[in-house]
Amino acid sequence: MEHNISLILGDGIGPEVISSVVEIIEATNLNINWEIVKAGESSIKTHGTPLPDYVLNGIKKNKVALKGPITTPIGKGFRSVNVGLRQGLNLFANIRPIKSYPGVDGLHKDVDFIIVRENTEDLYAGIEHMIGEDAAESIKIITRKASERICRYAFELAKKEGRKKVTLAHKANIMKLSDGLFLECGRRISEEYKDIEFEDIIIDAMCMKLVQSPSDYDIIVAPNLYGDILSDLSAGLIGGLGLAPGANIGEGIAVFEPVHGSAPDIAGKNIANPTSAILSGIMMLKHIGEFEAAIRIEKALAFTFENKNSKTIDLGGNLGTKEFTEEIIKHL
Ligand code: NAD
Repeated sequence: MEHNISLILGDGIGPEVISSVVEIIEATNLNINWEIVKAGESSIKTHGTPLPDYVLNGIKKNKVALKGPITTPIGKGFRSVNVGLRQGLNLFANIRPIKSYPGVDGLHKDVDFIIVRENTEDLYAGIEHMIGEDAAESIKIITRKASERICRYAFELAKKEGRKKVTLAHKANIMKLSDGLFLECGRRISEEYKDIEFEDIIIDAMCMKLVQSPSDYDIIVAPNLYGDILSDLSAGLIGGLGLAPGANIGEGIAVFEPVHGSAPDIAGKNIANPTSAILSGIMMLKHIGEFEAAIRIEKALAFTFENKNSKTIDLGGNLGTKEFTEEIIKHL
């Protein structure tokens, strides 16, 4: 079966890590028609905007995209392409599996949980303004509709994956209305899933508990900002940002991308770890029903880490992005 997939290489290390996934997927002989589109810095140069309409329309047509990280200048310039994509395509759920790998030294072994992050609202809705010259206001939007939708998604994912517990992270003790509504929605949805344990936890306490005892967690559901911060913290538990994949899921549309950013400090040096991007590619293949190829890549990656002890520099190894990619292809 032929698949049409939109491909956004992204900025910084994006082209390096996304090329690695594409090479590996190509080596499985799947019939994929990659529709390469530009977004981010490269698109500003050619189209005057980091997120031209043709990119959104292409993804709407193909229903699936693989995306590299995109640089978002701090404090000025264009609005975040990532936020624009998530809102423009209504990609309401950001799914970020955090799993330790045999052969990779992380802070903890036996970590295996999934972060389900609300992806369209909260402080990331981007509604902010100056009040005069000396104050700024950002509006935190939490709606019942989006909160119920993401909590239901978390429980459905738990059911599908045979997971036992959903933990909801919030700060409803302080933000009684906004986080209070998110929590109320989680509690209400949990009543529909009697076989799955439900707990809620205040976000700051959660950060400490995650660092001390990450194997206590199974599925974590959180509003947008907390989910984003927890993702990087969690990546740190298993060996770093080079190991954390992600999927942005909407109604019939999905965009797969690593958790990490464009890492300008290491861009163009052939030292980026492509594993997060490869794992995002594996999630994408499962999403489009190509399980055999997905499992082949999964096994080759595990073999490369565990049996060959082959790793990129961030994980204490000595392979460059290209050499690590070749090693995986050798073991497909
Ligand atoms: P970052 O994730 O790019 O990098 C943080 C640190 O982790 C850096 O030291 C980097 O070298 C390292 N790192 C990240 N990915 C790695 C990999 N695959 N292999 C080895 N080391 C890796 O975060 P940042 O520096 O805060 O952000 C850089 C830019 O990326 C910013 O413009 C930010 O807005 C953007 N960003 C984009 C996305 C996205 O497109 N989804 C996500 C996060 C950040």
